[in-house]
Amino acid sequence: MDSKVKAELDIYLEKSSVKGTWVEKNLPNLWMFIDNFEGKSFSEKIYRFLNKENLQDSCKICRNKTQFLSLNRGYREFCSKTCSNNDPDSISKKIESFKTTSMDKWGVDNPMKNEVTKRKLIDSKSKLDYEKIN
Ligand SMILES: [Zn+2]
Repeated sequence: MDSKVKAELDIYLEKSSVKGTWVEKNLPNLWMFIDNFEGKSFSEKIYRFLNKENLQDSCKICRNKTQFLSLNRGYREFCSKTCSNNDPDSISKKIESFKTTSMDKWGVDNPMKNEVTKRKLIDSKSKLDYEKIN
């Protein structure tokens, strides 16, 4: 990268959220340089340039390309809700949060472990069956 581009990059990074059109007008060397990178917007291109060593622009699950959010946030982790629901990390997080809720409510990590809860569940079930029959 030549020194002109480097200097303009520093200016760009100091500014927060400037538009591509502003860069084109005020930082033409940087604009030309970044134009070689893939991306729909200037911030996406510059993100790809800054993170080219360790770029994460694909879905953790299916490897589809994900949506670019912003220079600070980068790309989405998943391409869709389906993939996000299939992520082993978020599944184990959900199980953990279920256990915590259950511990708070019933004092056990699984409601069926609690004898009183079990009894209540069985009672309500037999009551229902009884009501159905009569
Ligand atoms: Zn996906």
